[in-house]
Amino acid sequence: MQVLTTPAEVRAARGRWPVLGFVPTMGYLHAGHISLVERARAECGAVIASIFVNPTQFGPNEDLDRYPRDPEGDLARLAAAGADLVFLPTPEIIYPPGFSASIELGEVTRRLEGAVRPHHFAGVATVVTKLFNIVQPTRAYFGQKDAQQCVVIRKLVRDLDLPVEIVVGDTVREADGLALSSRNSYLTPDQRAEAPVLYRALSAARTAFAAGERDADALRRLVRTVLGEGLAPATDYVSVADPRTLEELTTLTDGALVSLAVRFGATRLIDNVLLTA
Ligand code: AMP
Repeated sequence: MQVLTTPAEVRAARGRWPVLGFVPTMGYLHAGHISLVERARAECGAVIASIFVNPTQFGPNEDLDRYPRDPEGDLARLAAAGADLVFLPTPEIIYPPGFSASIELGEVTRRLEGAVRPHHFAGVATVVTKLFNIVQPTRAYFGQKDAQQCVVIRKLVRDLDLPVEIVVGDTVREADGLALSSRNSYLTPDQRAEAPVLYRALSAARTAFAAGERDADALRRLVRTVLGEGLAPATDYVSVADPRTLEELTTLTDGALVSLAVRFGATRLIDNVLLTA
């Protein structure tokens, strides 16, 4: 596995593979990230992962400075998963002095996470565009765990005609249902014990839909009931939305996206499920 730190090094290495899968990450890798690397490897033959904690997608009061990092452990995990290349740039390489571009994708970036994190998706879209231009992957792999990010990236690729195929991998969970996330490492033991309620609430929504519930408000109420009154003040949103536009639904349709964001102390967790009849 070759570790690269500059766009020129990536371009020089890129030519070796006609079909290349790309897995962008912010590091502190877990089985969710690795599932994407393994899928990319199976589908593309060769894989490049990037590790870059992108400052422009963090708000002023968010966790950029304390975001967990473990570059050596990450490289060992990527090597074990069969990655061929790793791009590990510094912020100065990605954002040299004078950098000022920003990609604005409109309404889908202002709903849900965007309502709480106003510049987040402009930061994501801009860095992903840069990474796509540097890596020039055949396919790029993202996790359903960050459902809105997947919607935004698909729109980015469509709006700008970026020559890359987007693949979305399933959310990988702990045995108790908690979606794997680098941010889970912030949870205290008590918060960690409480956190699986997110997936229990989403699973209740899925069960109700499968049993015939078609009223979106009833589903929102059900999710909030399972979350419990204790978490109500810490719940940023419970959404039942169209999976492409993220517009809130009145009547449930197959494939609707149920998503939520809940704060456990200073740690914000997000999760989602897609409804299937
Ligand atoms: P991050 O390092 O948080 O930026 O995540 C990098 C990629 O891994 C993103 O496409 C995430 O959606 C994906 N990812 C994060 N957590 C999970 C998970 N539990 N299951 C599947 N994919 C995930």
